[in-house]
Amino acid sequence: MSTTGLPPYDDANIFARILRGEIPCKRVAEDDHALAFHDINPQAPVHILVVPKGRWVSLADFAAGASDAEQGGFWRMVGAVARDAGLEASGYRILSNMGAEGGQEVPHFHVHVFGGRRLGRMVAAPAP
Ligand code: 5GP
Repeated sequence: MSTTGLPPYDDANIFARILRGEIPCKRVAEDDHALAFHDINPQAPVHILVVPKGRWVSLADFAAGASDAEQGGFWRMVGAVARDAGLEASGYRILSNMGAEGGQEVPHFHVHVFGGRRLGRMVAAPAP
């Protein structure tokens, strides 16, 4: 286990494969530090994923281990993606799921950018 309590980084995860170009994506933006692409199963009219290029499972991993350049580049891309999608005036949400209770399906740290409709409450009710 890593110091975050999450499993070690899995190079076979789907975002690692997208970053290596093994699986296509609908790219929105890319630079040395991060890649942004449309979610394959959008939950809002705008649903973009922003992933750092490093091998980070969680925000704790990323914050502790990524260089200042990678962290700065990543967050700059999150802001630019929201702005370039035209969401500044209407508003939007960023969200990051971590671990089992956070509902993280892909174990490569990423941020979702949602917008284009009223997004409702912050956290859905628990499943019955
Ligand atoms: P998580 O639950 O880990 O925060 O979110 C993972 C997200 O990745 C989900 O919203 C899911 O729809 C998206 N996703 C899973 N596989 C693929 C894929 O192959 N391509 C793209 N573009 N998105 C994917």
